[in-house]
Amino acid sequence: MPEGDSLHRAALRLRPLVGRRVSANSPHPRGLATGVAAAVDGRVLESVEAVGKHLLLRFEGGVTVWSHLRLSGRWRVGPAGSTGAGRPWLVLRAGGLEATQWSGPVLALDERPVRRLGPDLLAEATEPALLVARLRRAEPGRPLGEVLQDQRFVAGIGNRWMSEALWAVRVSPWLLVGEASDEQLLEALGWARDAMRAAVVGARPQRAVYRRARRPCRRCGTPIVSRGQGADNRTAYWCPRCQGP
Ligand SMILES: [Zn+2]
Repeated sequence: MPEGDSLHRAALRLRPLVGRRVSANSPHPRGLATGVAAAVDGRVLESVEAVGKHLLLRFEGGVTVWSHLRLSGRWRVGPAGSTGAGRPWLVLRAGGLEATQWSGPVLALDERPVRRLGPDLLAEATEPALLVARLRRAEPGRPLGEVLQDQRFVAGIGNRWMSEALWAVRVSPWLLVGEASDEQLLEALGWARDAMRAAVVGARPQRAVYRRARRPCRRCGTPIVSRGQGADNRTAYWCPRCQGP
């Protein structure tokens, strides 16, 4: 699933359309059924904001479009007329550019779900120290790996960056959040934020543990292990030796 850095990259690609009056249409019937194209056609796009794994496009007149890509959705931006075969859910055209949204699966005139999210990890205004206090609101008996992906506390981290961050700071995703020190939480959040910010501008860091089950740990050679975690059964990856059991 795309994590916060992917959504920030999508927001950057869409930014050249900001301040322009867009023409909109929905070639895909499911996109058409959302009513989004009709609501934004002819309006000025005022801002594009990534919040965690969500994208908010604000248009003049107080119209806001909420986009969540889940596993299958994506945004593309290119010169007008560059969209080839296929039927995107939404096409926005302005200033010689064409932004297309493919496969939804969430595209709506509704920003309420985004209001329930915690602060976006990658936002300039978000201080990792304040996020530590938010993580302390979680039930102390929940594993840290699961809590870091709970978007109500911190928005943007999924199982890839959770796994990579906890490996980097040598903390097990199974450590109970109530037993993690403030320093461990701060270190993990800080590492994730730095790595995800670098990824927004194109850095492609070598994966240490994510999708590397049974392959040797890059630090100690112990085979990486993986297991589903939390109600959503998102796979955690970790080194049982340098991150503890
Ligand atoms: Zn190791």
